[in-house]
Amino acid sequence: MTTAIFVMGHCVACKNLITFHPDFVPSLAVNGAREPLCRTCVKRWGEIHKKPVTIHPDAYDAKVEE
Ligand SMILES: [Zn+2]
Repeated sequence: MTTAIFVMGHCVACKNLITFHPDFVPSLAVNGAREPLCRTCVKRWGEIHKKPVTIHPDAYDAKVEE
């Protein structure tokens, strides 16, 4: 049996609702909690900090368990 787990949340920076994979999504620590960042904000963060961030290919896909 294959189970797909969709995790939805708001991007910590732009507050857009996104679907992400909890193990792979890039995140920021906010008050001790890991908060997800959307693809657009990750790219923006990389440009601001001059440090391109590699996004996991499954970061914004459902988590699939078999
Ligand atoms: Zn965002």
